[in-house]
Amino acid sequence: MHVLNVVTSDEWTTLQEYEYDLFIRPDTCNPRFRVWFNFTVENVKQDQRVIFNIVNFSKTKSLYRDGMSPLVKSTSRQKWARIPAKHVYYYRCPDHRKNYVMSFSFCFDREDDVYQFAYCYPYSYTRLQNYLDNLEKKGMDFFHRELLCLTVQQRRLDLITITHPDNLDPDENNRIVFITARVHPGETPASYCCQGFIDFLISNHPIAKILREHIVFKIVPMLNPDGVYLGNYRCSLMGFDLNRHWSEPSPWAHPTLYATKNLLMELDRSDKHTTDFYIDLHAHSTLMNGFMYGNTYEDVERVERHSVFPRLLCTNAEDFSLANTNYNRDAVKAGTGRRTLGSCLDENSHCYTLEVSFFSYQTNSASQALPYTEEGYMKLGRNLARTFLDYYKPSGPTLTLPMKEEAIGSLGLNQQLSHIQNTDRFEDRSIRRSYQRDFSINSSNAFSESSSSIRLQMRENRRY
Ligand SMILES: [Zn+2]
Repeated sequence: MHVLNVVTSDEWTTLQEYEYDLFIRPDTCNPRFRVWFNFTVENVKQDQRVIFNIVNFSKTKSLYRDGMSPLVKSTSRQKWARIPAKHVYYYRCPDHRKNYVMSFSFCFDREDDVYQFAYCYPYSYTRLQNYLDNLEKKGMDFFHRELLCLTVQQRRLDLITITHPDNLDPDENNRIVFITARVHPGETPASYCCQGFIDFLISNHPIAKILREHIVFKIVPMLNPDGVYLGNYRCSLMGFDLNRHWSEPSPWAHPTLYATKNLLMELDRSDKHTTDFYIDLHAHSTLMNGFMYGNTYEDVERVERHSVFPRLLCTNAEDFSLANTNYNRDAVKAGTGRRTLGSCLDENSHCYTLEVSFFSYQTNSASQALPYTEEGYMKLGRNLARTFLDYYKPSGPTLTLPMKEEAIGSLGLNQQLSHIQNTDRFEDRSIRRSYQRDFSINSSNAFSESSSSIRLQMRENRRY
């Protein structure tokens, strides 16, 4: 009979023959964050049932209470699957200083397979680099990739620009939509969402073509490459939660923020550019659906304008929840990209955080929550992209058109739009509703993966 040997980066423990206590390695230079796991198991025996206890989570509130379960795949089955919720237990455990423990049982079925378990769908730094390398090779004249800066550990901070080549003329007046993702390295759904966003914008879809003609999209797909590479959940290499350092980023401690903020401020100062949107993509560990955080303002008219985009996104994405969306200036959110840039960019710009659940979404039509898949997260990204068309086009007497008249004028945007609405066959196009209507909860589910924060390997047979 085989006995598995569990090796974690820090500790291992065996309880009974087939029960293992697993300890998540904390973020580098910050022991407070212990959430993300991603480990492999090999040298298993057929029909061997094992119990894993993950015993040192740093959070107590968790989507495990709402039926979330770990993901698994194996050498011969490369598609991630969820372990059935009935095999997962989340409870306060007296044996572990009353910490919350997540236990799950799993029955191995193929001896030759290597099994991998993860908190959410991984999306690594290497995967992003391969994705961008492939796009670059296509030689599209509307896609540009630049190195914005190098990280502390000399990784790339990529800046992607997607727009019609005519808009790159320095004399052109441009409207800019600026998107960032993965400032929190464990929030892998943000990367799937960002990839869906990019995939849509570079596609032949008629909406994508129009958006490229009128708007300059600037995208920083991974704001914290070192944190992602190291498998951290929340922090940078040096243990900083970068999304609390936007106010005064340091060139040596937070170089990626420093470079990104400088670029945003430079665009803001320029007469030729108008930054209409800054949206930072995240994943949420306790709430369901996709939703946004926005800012609050004294100016009532600005508050009204600020609520338009989330409402439009809600009409396009069935997983997006207006009920979860909120506008705040909470002290705990000081120093976030959304808050900081919301107060220092031009007052006509809109700064949001887009959150998507690590687990699931509730829709109006389904009786129970639907777990997000990689595709579900990418779909939210595509829906985010298409919503800019709804925002910039005139769509009724109460919606002020934010786009400058000359930008639409001779290009006949309205004409192009009516053509699109007749011919649009985009698979996930939802029924259009007027944004003035009341909205009940929509849910979305997205996940992405980041690199592992713990890597447990079960290799040799060894008896304890
Ligand atoms: Zn986050």
